[in-house]
Amino acid sequence: MRNNVYLYHRNVNDFTKEVKKLHEIGEKHGFNIVTRPEDANIIVAIGGDGAFLQAVRYTGFRQDAIYVGFGRGLNEFYCDFDIHKLDEVDRLFSDNTARIEAGLEVRKYPLLSASINESTPLLCLNEASIKSSIIKSLAIEVYIDDLHFETFRGDGMVVSTPTGSTAYNKSLNGSVVDPLIRCMQVSEIASVNNNRYRTLGSSFIVHESRKLSLRIVEDGNDYPIIGMDNEALSLKYTDRIDIELSDQVIKTVKLRNNSFWHKVQRSFF
Ligand code: NAP
Ligand code: MN
Repeated sequence: MRNNVYLYHRNVNDFTKEVKKLHEIGEKHGFNIVTRPEDANIIVAIGGDGAFLQAVRYTGFRQDAIYVGFGRGLNEFYCDFDIHKLDEVDRLFSDNTARIEAGLEVRKYPLLSASINESTPLLCLNEASIKSSIIKSLAIEVYIDDLHFETFRGDGMVVSTPTGSTAYNKSLNGSVVDPLIRCMQVSEIASVNNNRYRTLGSSFIVHESRKLSLRIVEDGNDYPIIGMDNEALSLKYTDRIDIELSDQVIKTVKLRNNSFWHKVQRSFF
């Protein structure tokens, strides 16, 4: 039975009042609020999409747990609930009709797995990014499977999941991708395009069976910043990043009339 709940928020002092109320609602309806995430099968992230990303990473991308996001209002991609409307949550559990009307479902979001310098792969829910850490541009050889597809020169590259497509990728003019499509999208950050350097210029989407490899060209800029969602990795030296879609997913709660496309419409129009 799914009844052990872990409440995650970024800072201890965030949402104190709301967390207390959530705690009370949970206990009233027979949930145990646990203090260790490993004891939970429901992980609640409070604060918004950034907090959701952090909750997922902090708790280790649990495959045997369901994640529930609470945001400020409903303009969130990973959060289906509003932290300022907890009475509605209470009603979901006290009132059968309310529960049926809410049409709760579980959705599964694809993750990507990124291995740096051939080490143990790390999972990402939004994207893996690689950026120059100095003013000088960064050169990257891009491989799709075994094909050397292009050599990029510029500020960096972002490889995003479908749900990550509305985040960093979108700011780079990438496409918004339906999360029912299992794929990865590659987008460029300020590529140099002239007679000497040439890249595709637009973002591109690859099938889930493809493997991407980004190999840093050693020309004096070998210390890029690597980002996994909202966390930066500090690495002495990066040679290559191998990225593929993972078999693992993030399971989250979906309300009726709140599909990914409802969220896109609400957020961007
Ligand atoms: P942040 O820089 O404080 O937040 C960036 C914004 O992106 C926040 O408003 C956040 O929502 C929102 N966001 C996060 N995931 C999203 C998604 N899947 N779809 C639509 N919006 C999303 O950092 P953060 O809150 O820790 O989030 C980290 C993410 O920021 C990274 O994974 C990356 O995608 C994105 N980012 C974007 C840019 C850019 O667009 N130029 C640059 C760096 C990073 P909340 O306010 O609800 O938390
Ligand atoms: Mn938000």
